[in-house]
Amino acid sequence: MASGLPFDPTQRSEEAEKLVMRGEKRLYYKFRAAPYYGGIATADAVGCSFLCAYCWNYGRNENPGRFGKLYSPEQVANNLLEISRRRNFHLFRITGSEPILGETSFEHLTKVIGIVLQEGPRADFILETNGLMLGYRKDLAERLLIRNLLVRIAVKGVDPASFEKITGARSEFFIYPLLAINHLESRGVRAWPALMDDLFSEAEINELKKTLRENGIQAELELECLEPYPFVQENMRHHGVLISCP
Ligand code: SF4
Repeated sequence: MASGLPFDPTQRSEEAEKLVMRGEKRLYYKFRAAPYYGGIATADAVGCSFLCAYCWNYGRNENPGRFGKLYSPEQVANNLLEISRRRNFHLFRITGSEPILGETSFEHLTKVIGIVLQEGPRADFILETNGLMLGYRKDLAERLLIRNLLVRIAVKGVDPASFEKITGARSEFFIYPLLAINHLESRGVRAWPALMDDLFSEAEINELKKTLRENGIQAELELECLEPYPFVQENMRHHGVLISCP
């Protein structure tokens, strides 16, 4: 995969999709019950359009073709449903990667969501995404009007410069996650932006909130905390990304 920084994330998406998809199967390396959101059935996949300095799955996403096993949408959905029945969970997600790299991974994802939501009538699927492809391709966002689907979009930076430093993707792509929220909100899909707040000052976060409003985004910004694993801190030092909050 292209390794120079900064890179074109749409090209990286395309390359990653070729490495992690075979037909409608995608590479996953784990299925688990996770404590987040009060308990959620979780599938860990590989392959991303970004290479974030704080990614807890950095090593796998650097070379995604080398990790995991191929699973069909039916197999992924069945594994998630089995976890949810065992743990009495009603929430589902795919993490560790970007679920939407292009058309093939999008179709894989929507099949997983469709089966899970059909089998689990009280279920909600939380789509955790970096928003790049949903902003870049409005047609994909328009196909996500699915009952009980919630879309959480990690916006990564407070401006183009911080976006580039954190994700490795060129600064002009900062706008696409914001466009994704626009596309989804205009279709009536429940979507909201999220930001790792440990990396930014209050003034910078307020500036981002202003940018969101100026771009017509209604949803509130969710602030999340960094998981400071030692290898995450090492990668951040390597990328020159500093934690700014005490
Ligand atoms: S968008 Fe998420 S999965 Fe992709 S590199 Fe960044 S933190 Fe990792």
